Amino acid sequence: MLTFKDLGLEPTLIQAVEDLGFQIPTDVQKEAIPLLLNKNTDLVALAQTGTGKTAAFGMPLLQKIDSDSKHTQGLILSPTRELCMQITKEIQTYAKHMPKVNVVAVYGGANIQDQSKKIKKGAQIIVATPGRMQDMQRRKMVDIRKIDYCILDEADEMLNMGFYEDITAILSEAPKEKNTWLFSATMPSAVAKIAKKFMNSPKEITVGSKNSGSKNVSHEYYTVSGRQRFEALKRLVDAHPTIFGCIFCRTKRDTQRVAENLIEAGYNAAAIHGDLSQNQRDTVMNSFRKKQIQLLVATDVAARGIDVDNITHVINYQLPDESEIYTHRSGRTGRADKKGVSIIIVSQSEQRKIRSIEKLIQSKITHKTIPDADEICNAQMLHLAKKLSDVEPSDSAEKLLPSFLDQLDNLSKEDILKRLVTVELDRFYNYYSGKAKNLDTPKKDFSDDDSKSKVSKKDEVRYHINIGEKDSYDWRTLKDLIKGTLGFTSDEIFHVDVMKNFSFFSSGPEERDKVLEGFKSINIDNRDIEVSITEKFNPGKAKKLKSRDRGGSFSRGSSSGRSSSGRSSSGRSKPNPFKFSNDKKSSDKRRRS
Ligand code: ADP
Ligand code: MG
Repeated sequence: MLTFKDLGLEPTLIQAVEDLGFQIPTDVQKEAIPLLLNKNTDLVALAQTGTGKTAAFGMPLLQKIDSDSKHTQGLILSPTRELCMQITKEIQTYAKHMPKVNVVAVYGGANIQDQSKKIKKGAQIIVATPGRMQDMQRRKMVDIRKIDYCILDEADEMLNMGFYEDITAILSEAPKEKNTWLFSATMPSAVAKIAKKFMNSPKEITVGSKNSGSKNVSHEYYTVSGRQRFEALKRLVDAHPTIFGCIFCRTKRDTQRVAENLIEAGYNAAAIHGDLSQNQRDTVMNSFRKKQIQLLVATDVAARGIDVDNITHVINYQLPDESEIYTHRSGRTGRADKKGVSIIIVSQSEQRKIRSIEKLIQSKITHKTIPDADEICNAQMLHLAKKLSDVEPSDSAEKLLPSFLDQLDNLSKEDILKRLVTVELDRFYNYYSGKAKNLDTPKKDFSDDDSKSKVSKKDEVRYHINIGEKDSYDWRTLKDLIKGTLGFTSDEIFHVDVMKNFSFFSSGPEERDKVLEGFKSINIDNRDIEVSITEKFNPGKAKKLKSRDRGGSFSRGSSSGRSSSGRSSSGRSKPNPFKFSNDKKSSDKRRRS
């Protein structure tokens, strides 16, 4: 069996690999590492997500640079800040026995002076997002005139995000003689174009078939009528009680909305998308990594390249426009030899897309029906039984048991068990045997939208309200307040952004007068509530002010934060939304609703 040593890596790197516990190199590592070590060549390497591409370029790069010299020799460009930090950390780990090597991350939304200082100390390797890199070039904080290696990581995604011009501009300062290594999961024509433009007869490595998915992932799809997408999602989640999943939506707005609706329905979910500030995104990602969040609802861009282990399910709440993106999504699961499931929710009219994805991933996508009440309750029952049989009785249980039994001394053991099952499972039975029993069978339903997205961005009316975080509101309690005051439903009010001293929210155009009227002469704790229409935070406009990879620094709020622990029926007590209370810590404030 081929080992890392056989690839020609030096002892310091072998040591790091051993420390990490990597046993054998992955396919792309087997091919790329010896090639890059032995030759000065340009390279295009295609391998699906999760196959260890970072090490495939990171290790040869570390071995090839001159660590005695302090000038910048390698530049790695990556599409997002998260990925940039992740690559930096990973390469630093590989370099842990190379004390003279300095790897510096350069990304938007963090202090540019700090990054500049780190580079001044001598950074042989810089890992950068395109926006911040250009900023630093303009300010002469980086010098790439003597780099030997340039790596374009997740090249397909960089191009998806429209970084073509930025890459061109950045590389115009780099020397012609450098080697360029391009790593990508898929090879759309834009990547072929970039290879042609920036590279000199590159070697090509393809692991697996181009654009194909992981063998560990099984694919299934469910047809629903457009209106019932969310209902279907809940059923799929309830039928998989141990799910640790990533749910993909097409737009930031849908992402936010689906997460909010899940949270309101008691699920342990959070959203991640480009409208969140960097800090908020970090918080969400960290909580997800630690499994404090069970369901992460994400846009493709925000979730890109992020390496979270043990994701059991990927759910395509909506299909992406381009089929290649599907392979990225499903690549979030089935990593490191674990099995994963990629679920697609489609409307009747989208079924033909399934065929084209099947072709691309060269694998069948099985048609399944949305689980019914019995299946869901059965799954929940099995889960409960397994939990009970697996749990190690604790000391405190031992202590509490006598008085617990005292309270129940008129009940038989069987009665107690029946009641336990009732307490734990009846909410599922009740919910799914009630009005939610049957999902419509999708007939001719070409409406692809949930009812809630009826309001187009253009028509969205945005309001300013003089209540904020300082009044102990988060998006949820503020949304409750607004709904309560106006007698509105959840869908009529959306995009609640809580700022420190004030907040924003939106409605459709029909609700406009009702909103403005409804808040006239409303007085809470002796304060007049003022609501007015605002233009300022029109997302479309705000966006234009920003360079792409600083997406979140405008700080448009977050749906970050902790969620309550799963679907506990007890729920947590919400503060009375009609009362200001200053004692409630807004630690779980979520911005946008
Ligand atoms: P990609 O860039 O191809 O999506 P990454 O480089 O992010 O994949 O690697 C995915 C995960 O696999 C990381 O957690 C990484 O540490 C791990 N990994 C990389 N190479 C190996 C290996 N040879 N053996 C075991 N794990 C590895
Ligand atoms: Mg990668």
